[in-house]
Amino acid sequence: MEQILNSLSISPIQVVDADIPLEQYTAISISSENKALKEFDVASSIEWSSYLDQYLEEKQAKVAYGGYLEKRDIYKRSNYFNTTEATEERNIHLGIDLWCNEGTKVLAALDGTIHSFQNNKNHGDYGPTIILEHHLENITFYTLYGHLSLNSLDNIAVGQEVKKSEVIGFLGDNSVNGDYAPHLHFQLILDLQGNSGDYPGVCSEKNINLYKKNCPNPNLLLKLPHEI
Ligand SMILES: [Zn+2]
Repeated sequence: MEQILNSLSISPIQVVDADIPLEQYTAISISSENKALKEFDVASSIEWSSYLDQYLEEKQAKVAYGGYLEKRDIYKRSNYFNTTEATEERNIHLGIDLWCNEGTKVLAALDGTIHSFQNNKNHGDYGPTIILEHHLENITFYTLYGHLSLNSLDNIAVGQEVKKSEVIGFLGDNSVNGDYAPHLHFQLILDLQGNSGDYPGVCSEKNINLYKKNCPNPNLLLKLPHEI
């Protein structure tokens, strides 16, 4: 499956505003290992935004991206990701995040149809979310776009066709996107397991093998350079 996904694109695919050149992309780690994250209150989306603005300025970039299978501390702030069982704590990130300005256009990665959409309102959740369905090379799989603006869900319908690179929505701000600095959560999903408009974007260490298999590295498809 990974080979098939890898073969679907030759050059990088942009899922945020295609007018931002790839030279203005930079990698970012927000794993528990990143010491810079100890310097501010990671529970605050406002402080996150300041940190990211500064990071982007230092790198002279417009988009900071990364995070597949990253173990993160940020989810500790939301009950949504945690239970009393420590082994069940969900802190492994299953998509790629692209951190850029609120209102940035979000683009379909490939031709497809709208499978489902929903506003997922838990604290730390996706907020407005769209899932596209793709049929390629005799396989069906899905791409999920989370943390959109509310109006991204206006005037769309299940089954609606979308073309690769078509604008399907816009990035939401912290008042609607689960209380994060603005970013797109982009995830590949092979089996939606009956979900609609939602699918876990973070899993526990205990379940990592299952989710790793069902949610391959989005960069197999996107081919964003690892470091610029
Ligand atoms: Zn994410």
